Amino acid sequence: MKALKDQEYDAIVVGTGPGGATVAKELAQGNRSVLMLEWGNNEPVNGTKAQTLRNFGTPGKSVLFTNEMLTMVRGITTGGSSVYYYGTVFYPPVEMLKRYNIRIEDEIEEVNNELPIAPLSDRIMGPMAKRIMNSARELGYDWQRAPKFMYQDNCRPECEKCGYGCPHGAKWTARHFVEQARKNGARLINGAKVTTVLTENGKAQGVMFRQGHATHRAFAKQVVLAAGGIGSPLILRASGYPTAGRDLFYDPLIAVMGTVSDIKGGREIPMASCVHMEDEGYVMSDMTLPPTVYGVLTAQAGRINQLLNHPKTLTIMVKAKDSLGGHLSKSGGVRKLLSDSDKQKLTRGYKRARQILRNAGAGNIFRSHFLAAHPGGTVKINELVNSNLETEIENLFVCDCSVIPEAWGLPPTFTLLCLGKRLAKHMNKSS
Ligand SMILES: Cc1cc2nc3c(=O)[nH]c(=O)nc-3n(C[C@H](O)[C@H](O)[C@H](O)COP(=O)(O)OP(=O)(O)OC[C@H]3O[C@@H](n4cnc5c(N)ncnc54)[C@H](O)[C@@H]3O)c2cc1C
Repeated sequence: MKALKDQEYDAIVVGTGPGGATVAKELAQGNRSVLMLEWGNNEPVNGTKAQTLRNFGTPGKSVLFTNEMLTMVRGITTGGSSVYYYGTVFYPPVEMLKRYNIRIEDEIEEVNNELPIAPLSDRIMGPMAKRIMNSARELGYDWQRAPKFMYQDNCRPECEKCGYGCPHGAKWTARHFVEQARKNGARLINGAKVTTVLTENGKAQGVMFRQGHATHRAFAKQVVLAAGGIGSPLILRASGYPTAGRDLFYDPLIAVMGTVSDIKGGREIPMASCVHMEDEGYVMSDMTLPPTVYGVLTAQAGRINQLLNHPKTLTIMVKAKDSLGGHLSKSGGVRKLLSDSDKQKLTRGYKRARQILRNAGAGNIFRSHFLAAHPGGTVKINELVNSNLETEIENLFVCDCSVIPEAWGLPPTFTLLCLGKRLAKHMNKSS
């Protein structure tokens, strides 16, 4: 086993999704020496299907299946899932977090000032999203354009590449923060899969990681696990926390699809507009799918006759807040069944989405199988980490979807950026 020879870092950050990249960037900007260890590669994002398949479509690595065969995808690459996300902003649940002694009003303001956040302009919001939004509004829904993390000047209308990783620099992803961290001196090692945290006398000392066939150790005064809702609990378990990975959520969703005869498109930015049906426990949004994803969902649903209809298919996503439950298997398999109440929420949303699509002029309406979106709640605040996101092991922190303490149901990126900024301030104070 080799130790990284050169130095002991101030901090090691494991994983470079929105949670990890934010902490790394903030620490590096504060002149702290930072090592980022990332399992995936750092190939420039080129928006090709081949690259997407490698980083976002490899079964057993980036594509996981629950024991009910719900598909769950995650990005294993620098930037994590944000490379393939849809960049829609949902503001953090400030009141809920206050109940856990976490105030993030300042960080919300900082993120608002730092990132490009605005609803899509008329130029780039696609005709399918507009048709769905108008139909929903006619039916009385409070369906609004959603703010997006996007440099809209770089965005090209009629481009289908959001879901394949934007090659035009239009979508903000956590890679932007990784690059800022590197400009401020942080080191990034790719292909580095962290397995355990090294400790001495109840304090974190560093981590052990595999790179190719070799095992290495790296040392730091502080360690942040940000390997995502599945990655972080596995590392914690291997480091002496057997209860990590219990009672999780994964925000189940369905895609409701129907065809129209007067639009030929299918190449537009998904999740341009939405409505949060808070009382009923789900979100509905337009979601024009990348053609390959459309093909898979349509075939899975047995609608072979619809396979060629992608350019004229309107799609609404219904994503529910599922109840906490289940656990991760030893290897990270998701063992969690949808409850009756989760299914009822999705069925209710399905009925509403059908009505909106019909009113928009769509026929042949059908729905996909259940899918799973954002795994989290596996290292909850108040259970395995305190309100400073620190574990019982001194100087070992967790900052990603796994710390979310309650059932969720919302796209979490904005919340993770705020938690990352807040954690970096705390680490700077306590170093
Ligand atoms: C198709 C899709 C669309 C989405 N759209 C939106 C949206 O519009 N808005 C929104 O807010 N959210 C969206 N999301 C969700 C959002 O992308 C994720 O919730 C977010 O990226 C989670 O951030 P994270 O930091 O928890 O983890 P991740 O982004 O999963 O990052 C974890 C990182 O850790 C690395 N890693 C894992 N294990 C190890 C290990 N053992 N050692 C080293 N590195 C490791 C991974 O490679 C990865 O880079 C979407 C997700 C998907 C899949």
